Amino acid sequence: MKKVIGIDIGGTKISFGIMDERGNLLKNIVKPTQSNREDIIESILTNIRELNDGDIAAIGISTAGFIDTIQGKILFAGNINGWTGFHLKKSLENLINIPVFVANDANMAALAEKWIGNAKEFDNFIMLTMGTGLGGAIYDKRIGFWEGATYQGGELGHIIMYPEGRLCTCNQRGCAEKYIAGSALSLNYEELTGKNLTGYEIIERLGVDENAKKALEKLSRDLALYISTIKNIFDPEGVVIGGGFSETSKYWLNSTIENYLKICNRPGDMKIVIGKFLNDAGVIGACRYAFLKLEENNG
Ligand SMILES: [Zn+2]
Repeated sequence: MKKVIGIDIGGTKISFGIMDERGNLLKNIVKPTQSNREDIIESILTNIRELNDGDIAAIGISTAGFIDTIQGKILFAGNINGWTGFHLKKSLENLINIPVFVANDANMAALAEKWIGNAKEFDNFIMLTMGTGLGGAIYDKRIGFWEGATYQGGELGHIIMYPEGRLCTCNQRGCAEKYIAGSALSLNYEELTGKNLTGYEIIERLGVDENAKKALEKLSRDLALYISTIKNIFDPEGVVIGGGFSETSKYWLNSTIENYLKICNRPGDMKIVIGKFLNDAGVIGACRYAFLKLEENNG
């Protein structure tokens, strides 16, 4: 049976998975991420060799940044040295002789959710990935993923929420990802207390620390404001929230929905749900993408 390898290059780890045509994830290995191109390519080659039993028809790669999905070229990525401008598809194909397909990580997470996850029923939806930052994907059945004129579309984390607000890594001020992400919760808490804790540490203190509660209430309200804007721009059937921080959703999802229903002018029936795949979304999406591209290329 035909198989593919899916690779998810994240901020702290690279995950590799092997999947058969029926969608079974046969193997999944996770390695720490290096922050430069040479080490990442080395890790990819070593792990492909380990996983390849001779039946691998294609490789799908999910990575952050602006990706030219036709050339498989990284147009811009701030997280890995040497990644910007790199022809990832061509370079790997020259080395391993297997077709390689590259796409944006938030889109791949959305693809996994659309295929066998919590976006299965949606013909159009918005995916938000809340981790260290805030990623976004815009999907419509008729057009697929919205990539924009220069592959920079769907950067939902960089919608300006608070003019002159917190400085973002993208150099704008007041971007949504400085208010709605795991790291944003830390910033909320720091503004109240002067202390620097991780998002997870703050969640752990909810019962005993009034400021932890306030910091989370702000995040929840900001998320509701933001989703109200999303509703007015895209009118999606659903908003699916994934990424590592969605693990903590039981502490904020209900209040976010309540706030959204209060804030939004026409909340309608739009659903707000948590993604099904926490850590595997990238690998599953990348595998699915590789299968879809193979089908497309074979006519
Ligand atoms: Zn930004």
